Amino acid sequence: MGVEITLPYARHTLTEEDLAAVAEVLRSAWLTCGPLVERFEQAVARRVGAAHAVAVSSGTAALHAAMAAVGIGPGDEVIVPALTFAATANCVVYQGASPVFADVCRDTLLVDPADVARKITPRTRAIIAVDYAGQPCDYQALRCIAGQHNLVLVADAAHSLGAADADRPVGQLADLTTLSFHPAKAITSGEGGMLVTNNACWAQRARAFRNHGFDNDLHQRNRRNTWRYGMQVLGFNYRLSDIHCALGLSQLANLDLFVAKRRAIAERYSQCFVALDGMRPLAVRPGVRHAWHLYVVRVDPRRAGVRRDELFSHMREQGIGVAVHYPPVHLHPFYRRKFGTAPGMCPVAEDAADRILSLPIFPAMTQDDVDFVLATIERAVRPCAPMAS
Ligand SMILES: *Cc1c(COP(=O)(O)O)cnc(C)c1O
Repeated sequence: MGVEITLPYARHTLTEEDLAAVAEVLRSAWLTCGPLVERFEQAVARRVGAAHAVAVSSGTAALHAAMAAVGIGPGDEVIVPALTFAATANCVVYQGASPVFADVCRDTLLVDPADVARKITPRTRAIIAVDYAGQPCDYQALRCIAGQHNLVLVADAAHSLGAADADRPVGQLADLTTLSFHPAKAITSGEGGMLVTNNACWAQRARAFRNHGFDNDLHQRNRRNTWRYGMQVLGFNYRLSDIHCALGLSQLANLDLFVAKRRAIAERYSQCFVALDGMRPLAVRPGVRHAWHLYVVRVDPRRAGVRRDELFSHMREQGIGVAVHYPPVHLHPFYRRKFGTAPGMCPVAEDAADRILSLPIFPAMTQDDVDFVLATIERAVRPCAPMAS
């Protein structure tokens, strides 16, 4: 029996305007394939400064469409970080290609460009970087490696919409960027995702891919007064409805506000951990504007006097929905079985996965909520807490 979680690690924030926007679309002529899809796409494209945006049904669908659009197929290898959500690697497998896992940097848990370079083979076609917790990776180094080896650089920016690196916003840092609008993410459309790029050809392919692989859509047929369409490639129904797009568009108006609230919470946590032995926040790269999707601390059992899993249980018992992001992808039974991955392949990610804990962080969290989390941690890490072996 689990205890009731009163303070989850993530929670969406909806405004009256969001509710009104959804109600309005429900009364309109279009529930899907209508005008809100393009309006949401254009608003995101403008916001991140990309030429093209393609809305799809989830962040996972965006990753799958990205792999299809850049032409990943059987025999290809794509380098992905070991410490990410499974979908980052799964999208490679969907296309019949092989993910190759790169380790992460110890201080930030962002993909380590040096290990990416080591994992390149003649079969490597692309790199998917993940802006873990909400801060952009070292794209300068990654772009350099990708350029040298003629690889496509994809950003899985499910965590980092609203972030930037030296004033260059997420959406412009890689050749192609994927976003997620799951309720845990910076803004939500319920479920939803988007692919943004300056490459017109990839955008067009992604558009066809989300609609069965058809070479035109309903509106293009209506404009041309024809019923004809052809299926050029095998696609999926990965469309995002107008209901979702209405919500996403309305939420986008609050992106900066949401990020600012997350930042204030993160600053309060980090200030406290300076004085708390054994609880170490992740490093923030210089010049980065962090989106703070996750607030991750590393628990040092010797100094804190408590193991991560003990702290996890202690927090959950108090109704605090802490989480672990993530079990390393290469250690999932599926990947071990199918790709022969094993412990020891990405030691930094594996070591981190035993120490990290994600604390609650979401825009509507109050100061009292943050203080409750901190007080609950302090009780667990006091010297009277059971000593870790
Ligand atoms: C959330 C997430 C995804 C997938 O997004 P969905 O919209 O849930 O499909 C992909 N990658 C990362 C890193 C994520 O956190």
